[in-house]
Amino acid sequence: MPSKALLNKAAKTDYMSLETYGKVQAMYIWIDGSGENLRCKTKTVDFEPKQPDDLPLWNFDGSSTKQAEGSNSDCYIKPVALFRDPFRGNPHKLVMCEVLNYKQEPVATNNRRRCRRSEEQVKEDRPWFGMEQEYTLLDVDGHPFGWPKGGFPGPQGPYYCAVGTGNVYGRDIVEAHYKACMFSGVKIAGSNAEVMPAQWEYQVGPCEGIDMGDHLWISRFLLHRVCEDFGIVASFDPKPMKGDWNGAGCHTNYSTESMRNAGGIEAINKAVEKLSKRHFWHIKAYDPQGGKDNLRRLTGLHETASIYDFSSGVANRKASIRIPRHVGEQKCGYLEDRRPSSNCDPYVVSEALVRTTILNEEG
Ligand code: ADP
Ligand code: MN
Ligand code: MN
Ligand code: MN
Ligand code: MN
Repeated sequence: MPSKALLNKAAKTDYMSLETYGKVQAMYIWIDGSGENLRCKTKTVDFEPKQPDDLPLWNFDGSSTKQAEGSNSDCYIKPVALFRDPFRGNPHKLVMCEVLNYKQEPVATNNRRRCRRSEEQVKEDRPWFGMEQEYTLLDVDGHPFGWPKGGFPGPQGPYYCAVGTGNVYGRDIVEAHYKACMFSGVKIAGSNAEVMPAQWEYQVGPCEGIDMGDHLWISRFLLHRVCEDFGIVASFDPKPMKGDWNGAGCHTNYSTESMRNAGGIEAINKAVEKLSKRHFWHIKAYDPQGGKDNLRRLTGLHETASIYDFSSGVANRKASIRIPRHVGEQKCGYLEDRRPSSNCDPYVVSEALVRTTILNEEG
């Protein structure tokens, strides 16, 4: 166990406000070889970067992140998106990066590069995404935060969108993370307590094209980093507790310009039709284990549709694709793909939607 002294975060605050005399800290952030975990390291630069290209290419030991062989282990990290750093304050930066191999080609897990290529072909369709990130707070022992040790709270029912001690667990983290997102420039849209106690959701969006992935990944970084300050773990596992407890997803709301315009319901229905024809291709793309993670979550129970069937419907929370009631009524808007798991890669999910519904890929 760490000593109490180490956990005294108050002592740190004096140092954090020290003048840095024109030097700027840039926290380079990248996705590691697992496709779901983030890594980061800091570089001092002597100017305030205004765009990602202002910052230099950097490198790291890819053999420590399952991204390279030990004998030829240098990988490159290339800055691709900039955010303000809420932990160090202005003018310091968080820097989303793509990972390149020693030949400066994208590594296998560089899904962003592929996503960007697809989305460049559909710019005129103005694809928007809004993702509902669900997650679970765990104590350091791996049991959900606030649950009785070795036991369970009362059954689900009172916890969704709840208020009050005993109904919600860990709101301090939710509040701190929300403000951290706003400070950094992440387009956070809202938050709510979820059906399982200690499970929460926040939404990011609407974001156009590649921004969706950049903003969601940085929001996850911020959540992990905030949780460090509280000694709590954020889990993106799609089914952290077996049994009669809800899993965690990352519902993806999606529209193109023609869906948003008057009469867009026709374009929405056409997209649903195309999605219905390649359900399993999407399932493979919707979690980092090619569908294995979602097998635990998409059971047909707990507000999910079975992983084996495709379904759609207005206001139907037991369908693969839900058309929100107000969209059905106004006859334009967006659709909600409820299949992506909480640990999905938003670059892969957004690209899959574009490839099926705009680029008309089949099979
Ligand atoms: P739910 O009713 O499923 O819980 P939420 O309110 O949690 O929905 O999330 C809705 C998400 O949809 C938000 O992230 C919002 O930014 C996004 N959104 C709203 N309009 C659009 C649109 N036209 N295209 C894509 N996403 C959208
Ligand atoms: Mn070293
Ligand atoms: Mn929601
Ligand atoms: Mn939810
Ligand atoms: Mn939803």
